[in-house]
Formats: sequence, structure tokens, C-alpha cells
Amino acid sequence: MNAFTRPTALPRVRITRIEAAPLFGESPKGGWSAEIRPQDSIHAIVAVHTDQGLTGYGSVFTDGRLVQAALKVLEPLYTGESALEPDRVSEKLHQNTFWMGRGGTLTHAISGIDIALWDILGQATGLSVGRLLGGRYRERVQPYCSLLMEEPKAMRDIIAEHRARGFTAFKIGWGPFGRALDTKLDEAIVRAAREAAGEKSRLFVDAGASDALWPHGFKWAKRTAEMLKDYEVGWFEEPVRPDAIDDYAELRRCSPVPIAGCEVLTRRQNFIPWLTRQAVDIVQPDVTKVGGISEQRRIAWMAYDFGVKYIGHGWNTALGVAADMQMAAAFPDADLVEFIGGSAYVDGILAEPFALDADGWLTIPDKPGLGVTIDRNKLARYTPDPAPLFA
Ligand SMILES: [Mg+2]
Repeated sequence: MNAFTRPTALPRVRITRIEAAPLFGESPKGGWSAEIRPQDSIHAIVAVHTDQGLTGYGSVFTDGRLVQAALKVLEPLYTGESALEPDRVSEKLHQNTFWMGRGGTLTHAISGIDIALWDILGQATGLSVGRLLGGRYRERVQPYCSLLMEEPKAMRDIIAEHRARGFTAFKIGWGPFGRALDTKLDEAIVRAAREAAGEKSRLFVDAGASDALWPHGFKWAKRTAEMLKDYEVGWFEEPVRPDAIDDYAELRRCSPVPIAGCEVLTRRQNFIPWLTRQAVDIVQPDVTKVGGISEQRRIAWMAYDFGVKYIGHGWNTALGVAADMQMAAAFPDADLVEFIGGSAYVDGILAEPFALDADGWLTIPDKPGLGVTIDRNKLARYTPDPAPLFA
């Protein structure tokens, strides 16, 4: 006899239905040239219901109406499927819909389903997702507070505000950076951010060149990368247009600061050329778009073996952050998670909101599944009909 006498087999758990709820009313700005308005839906919560009373949750970074439409298309493929086999079921959904827009809305929606299925598998087995992924390399992870660029004075004030909340790592991006066509302003913003963040904080810069009609090319990126070195910037993100893979590769070779990118890519297959051509130092797949945790873990391990660091981009809701934290637990070098500064969809929907410790770090939940609980009443502020997510 030992503690591991044969456990009882898991019961069959079947998917009965999947629901999606769009979030809007407090949608945070994106710094995009066509700015997001609070009333726009760009994030959605997904709930997978089962015949055994377990419900798993995920989130998707796209318009909730698209997710709801995608669920209708996917319904015949997932109804009655096992709720305990995230990898197989997600792959089935991908493989049977490739001709309807592989990598687009359907892939985004499958991401939310996949995250929810991992949540269910964790609940059914009593294990956190990080453990299910193979084990926990860390118990804590450093969140970097992601903030939009502002003019220097405002930038200073905003960083000071979030530093006072306890953050010790910051990323500034988008907004006027590069877009104002003023390299002196670009540098003044970064200088203000470094001064406000303090010498000891980590600082990252995101040009956001996946924005519509990004005005710069390789030479701007190269010159800007050299400027960033003077402010101890930890990486330069999306410095050139998102498909300019040769420019990325060249920049990786000549830039004094590490080059990060690939948040816009979906499906694991699309990461292959970026890794084989050594185009980035840091790869940033978004778990709520790329295909979910099943896809993200393959990308993260592939990147690891290519000597490329993996950092998640699932900042858009508390569930995306929770998935990124579980992924960070299970990967040797994923020591950071992106954490948007001041979003109601991250700070305002959990029963127990994320809390920074004295070092400005987050403890990674080791409870079953994603290890977080949505508060239905709080969520009701940001979606007109949360009931289907909980019924
Ligand atoms: Mg970015």
C-alpha cells in the first residue's frame, strides 16, 4: 500500500454546449490609429458546459459577435465530445475547419474553447493546468505592466501611478511613438519612462508596428533600437511591419537590444519560419488567438529549442492572464507575463483579483484548472447577458 494505490478512473465528461459573451463598456484603448472605443467589443469570455456539472472558462481576443458566429459553425464538431481531451478536441476543430478561414476567427474561437477545456481537465483531476502541462518551474512570475505611450509628462505620471501599485516591470507602447514622425519625441518618451520607472525596474518598448499603415521601415527600427539601448530597454517589440520577416531577421542580428514579435500570428505552423530564420529573440504568441494552450505550449517548446524566449501575450482578460500564468509555470524561461495597466476586464471580473506581492510579482495559482473564479455579478457590468456562461 502506498499513497498511489490505483486511483479511480475519471468518469466520462461530455461537452453539452459552449457559450460566448462579448465584453464591452470598458474596453481599454489600444493606441491604434483607429482607436478602440469603450463600447467596442474586442474581447469575449467563453464557457464550456458539460454533462457532469463542470464548466470551464476561456477568453478570446476578438469581437464577441465573431466568436458567437464561430461557435455556431463549430457546434456539430464539439457537441458530445470529450471535455477532458483539450489537445485532441482542439486539433479536431482546427483540422476540420481549415477551409473556412484557417488562422482567423475560427482559430480565435477555438483558442477560448481550448483554454476552457484545460480548465475542465484541471477541475476533473484536481490539478492546476501548469502541472498538467508537465510541472511547475516556478511558483511566482513577474507581471510587466503594459501601458500606452503618452507625451513625456503624462508618461511619467502614468508610470508613477502603476509603480505606486507595486509593479517593478513596465512596457510602454503604441500611441505617439513612431507615429508622430518625431524621433526626438520618441526618445523623450522613453527617457521619461525610464526616469519614472527607476533604475531597478525592467522596461520594455513596443513600437506596435502591426498598427494599420505603420509609417516606418528597417532604418527607423535600427536607429531606434540603438537609442533604446541607452535606456536599458529589455526588448524592442514589433519594430517593423508584422510580415517583414527578413527585416526582423536582419534587425535581430544588428540590434543591441533583443527583438520581440509575433503577437499577430495564429496556429503553430506560422511560427516555423520565424524560428528557422532566426527572426526574433522573443516570441509572443497570444493564447487567446493562437489556438489556445494546446497550441501555445507547442510554440513555446519549439521556440525554446531554437534558443528563442517565449513570453505570453494573453493580457486581454483575467482568463487570458490566468492561462499565461499557468503556461509560465510550465516553461523554463517564461519569467514574465504581460499585465495591462488598469483594465476592468482583468482587474474587475474575478472573485479574488490578482494581487502583487512585495516584489511586484504574482503567485501562480496551484488550484485545479486555471485556478481563478469569475465573479458573476462583477462580470455582469461588462456584458448584457452573463447567464448563459453560468447556467
Ligand atoms: Mg505588442
